[in-house]
Amino acid sequence: MNLNEFPEDIRKYLVPEPSGTMFYRCLGCRGEFDIERLLYTCPSCGGILMLYHRSTGEKKDIEGTLWRRIFDYRRMLNFNPLKGIFRYYEFIAPIIPLESIIYLGEAHTPIVMANKNLERLVGLPFYLKNEGLNPSLSFKDRGMASALSFINYLAKKKNIKDILTICASTGDTSAAGALYSAYLTGLLKSAVLLPKRRVTLQQLSQPLGSGATVLEMPGVFDDCMRVAEELSEEYEVFLLNSKNSWRILGQESFAFEIAQDFDYQVADKVIVVPVGNAGNITAILNGFLKFLKANIISRLPKIIGVQSDHADPVYRYYLEDDPSRRQFKPVDVKPSVAQAAMIGNPVSMPRVIDLVREYSQAAGQKRIFFVAITEQEIMDAMIVANKNGHTACTHGGESVAGFIKAIKEGLVSKGEIGILDATAHVLKFSPFQQMYLDDRFPPEFEVRPRREFKNTPIKIELKGLRKLPKTGRPLRGKDVDLFTKASTAEIARILNLKKR
Ligand SMILES: *Cc1c(COP(=O)(O)O)cnc(C)c1O
Ligand SMILES: [Zn+2]
Repeated sequence: MNLNEFPEDIRKYLVPEPSGTMFYRCLGCRGEFDIERLLYTCPSCGGILMLYHRSTGEKKDIEGTLWRRIFDYRRMLNFNPLKGIFRYYEFIAPIIPLESIIYLGEAHTPIVMANKNLERLVGLPFYLKNEGLNPSLSFKDRGMASALSFINYLAKKKNIKDILTICASTGDTSAAGALYSAYLTGLLKSAVLLPKRRVTLQQLSQPLGSGATVLEMPGVFDDCMRVAEELSEEYEVFLLNSKNSWRILGQESFAFEIAQDFDYQVADKVIVVPVGNAGNITAILNGFLKFLKANIISRLPKIIGVQSDHADPVYRYYLEDDPSRRQFKPVDVKPSVAQAAMIGNPVSMPRVIDLVREYSQAAGQKRIFFVAITEQEIMDAMIVANKNGHTACTHGGESVAGFIKAIKEGLVSKGEIGILDATAHVLKFSPFQQMYLDDRFPPEFEVRPRREFKNTPIKIELKGLRKLPKTGRPLRGKDVDLFTKASTAEIARILNLKKR
């Protein structure tokens, strides 16, 4: 809709102006720092940072009902910078000028209801939020949209040139980071650190195609992450991991969208999310908290964090019920089909600890739970979901398996509705699906396909036929008929078709 056609009272809010100031705050010493320094950790104590906004002027006084109207009308506005995560501009990074915003089609992903068959198998009604439909096929694009919009703005403002973005990745961060960096070609170049053989070929092809320098490292993600951290502390680079708080901001839009897509009624919703480096769950918790504080929602949804028992440090931390006795211990990871979450020492753990406390206080009750599941449960759940019309990757499977587990453990019950984060597209992780369907899983994964799910192509062989079509050498004349008739008969036999 054209701006002049919106109700008059809402018009002035639809296209926002930058306002207020943003700053980093350290979760350790509570020190505050200027955003124009590129910081990933606290310069005084080394603690982890979060970004906050100090508003000025009238934006401060907007009521929850007005915010809801602003977002609902903005949905109808055809204005590129506000089409993605920045529909929620004021809650993400309201200091970035609109002309610096990068939009590659991310966010506002479909929330797809499970059919009755899948609902029956799982136990309660639920939706999958299909994050695989983002431009690089995972939710990481949300955080890249905010981080790269910020660096784009800062580069213009301070006349910085030739920036190198860098990240350690289990595959999807590098795909997203390389894609958004490529859009800013001329200003940015990108380099990505990947653990050798712990990234699918599909994921590896993404940063290569975007023109990034791809560095294959020995070890697992945690090893790459330490090197990326060291590089970002010692050299002039822009770190694109979720340790960089600009990433977290964009990923909060996942929570904002769920609120908006359910008309801001989320009290009966259960958000299920796989946890790896814990940036995503940080963003989801912070997102819902922001909307609660602004009275956009009146109650907080339940949150279930899911980890594979091959990489479950966060789950283990919360096994201890008494907060004063909890102790975080990194774990040594084992190979996992949820490879993007195969992380033993999550960078955002201090953020999670802080936010879980704040979230529970704001909710007035325990609203966040963690479950651990087996590799087998992840694969079975993914295959079942996709056989019922979804396109979930292994991590989407992890969400489904986690929801099933939460129901079994009594953490979720009748009357509640699941919203499960399907974090990436199935095709990124198709080798795992293929190993399942072909029954070829290496033993360390501890996955045995259910026999009824086996599925391999059937080769059509036409033994009686002298001539077969080949590429560039089509059949002609009566050979075409012979081939069509023989193939039809053979396929009808295999499919057991009845003659009409
Ligand atoms: C990154 C990623 C995760 C884990 O998210 P964190 O923010 O690292 O906890 C889960 N699934 C997919 C597909 C990912 O790419
Ligand atoms: Zn500090």
